[in-house]
Amino acid sequence: MKKINPFSNCQRYNISLKQCPPFIFLVMGVIIIISDLLTFFIGARFISNPLMISLIVMVITIILFILSYFINRSFEKLLELNQMKNEFINIISHQLRTPLSSMRWIVDLMRSGKMDSIDEKYGSYLDIMSSDVKSMERMINKFLMVSKIESKREKFLREKSSPEKIIQEVIKEFLPFCEARNIKIEFKKEGEIPETFTDFQKVKVAVENLIDNAIKYSKEKGRVEVILKKKGDNIYIGVRDYGIGISPEEKKYIFQKFYRLESALKSQTLGLGLGLYLTKLIIEKLGGKIGFSSQENKGSLFWFTLPIKKEI
Ligand code: ADP
Repeated sequence: MKKINPFSNCQRYNISLKQCPPFIFLVMGVIIIISDLLTFFIGARFISNPLMISLIVMVITIILFILSYFINRSFEKLLELNQMKNEFINIISHQLRTPLSSMRWIVDLMRSGKMDSIDEKYGSYLDIMSSDVKSMERMINKFLMVSKIESKREKFLREKSSPEKIIQEVIKEFLPFCEARNIKIEFKKEGEIPETFTDFQKVKVAVENLIDNAIKYSKEKGRVEVILKKKGDNIYIGVRDYGIGISPEEKKYIFQKFYRLESALKSQTLGLGLGLYLTKLIIEKLGGKIGFSSQENKGSLFWFTLPIKKEI
C-alpha cells in the first residue's frame, strides 16, 4: 500500500519543517483547539446560556479553520512557484548551456577568419547550429506549453483533423534526425482512419514527443514504428522502439514532471523530463487515454487514444 507522507513535498522543496504547510496546518489546528477551550471557559464565566456558548465556539472554530486553510493554500502555491523557478534555473544552466556553448564556439571560429564559406566543414557546422537552435526552441516551447496548460491559459480547439497527416508531418520533421542516428522510421496504418475532431497542433506536439523519445532512446541502427488505427470510437496512435526500455522500478515515475530515468541520464541525451508529462496533459485534456509497455533493453511502446466524435 502507498505510504502517505504529508511532509514529502517539503522534503522535495528542500524546506525546513517549521516552514512546511502541513506542519503549519497542524499548528493552526492546535491553536484552534486552544482558542475553542479559552472561548468556552471565558464564555462559561460570563454567559449563562450553554447553547450561546457552543454557538460562539462553533463560529470561532469555523472562521479560524477557513483562515488557516487559505493561509496553507497560499503557502503551498508560493512553494510551487518557487520550485518552478528553481527547476527553470536548473534547465537554463544545464540543458541550454550545452548547445549555446557549442554555438558560441562555432560562431567564434567563423568570425576568427580561420574558416570561410568554401571550407568543407562550413556546411556541417551550420547544420550543428541549426539543430542546436531547434532543440533549444523545442525545450522552451515545451516548458511554456506546460506552464500555459497548468495555468489554464492554453486554448484547446476542436477542428476537423487528419491523424494521418499529423503523423506524416512529424515523421518528415524527424527524418534528418533519424538519418543522423541511422534509425529507420516506419509508418504502419491499419485500415481506414476517419477525420477526428481534435486540436491538430496539440496532437502534433504529443506525437512529436513520443517519436522524439523513441529515436533518442533507440540503439544505433534501430527501428521506430508509428502505428495508426481505429479502435472503437477512438483513434489509436502507438510509437514503438527497440531501444533501452524502462526498468520495472522506474515505470511508475515515467509521466512525472521533470523526471528523467537513470538509463537516460547515462546515455546523456539532452532532455527536460517534460515531454511525457506534457503529452499526458494534452491527451487527457482532449479526452483521450495514454499508456505504455516496456521491457528493459528490449524497447517500449507508447500509445494514446483520442475520441473521434465531436464532443470532447
Ligand atoms: P525527456 O525530455 O527527458 O526525454 P520525457 O518526459 O519525454 O523527457 O521522458 C522522461 C523520461 O522517460 C526520459 O528521460 C527517459 O528516461 C524515459 N523515456 C521516455 N521515453 C522513453 C523510451 N521510448 N524508451 C526509454 N525511456 C524513455
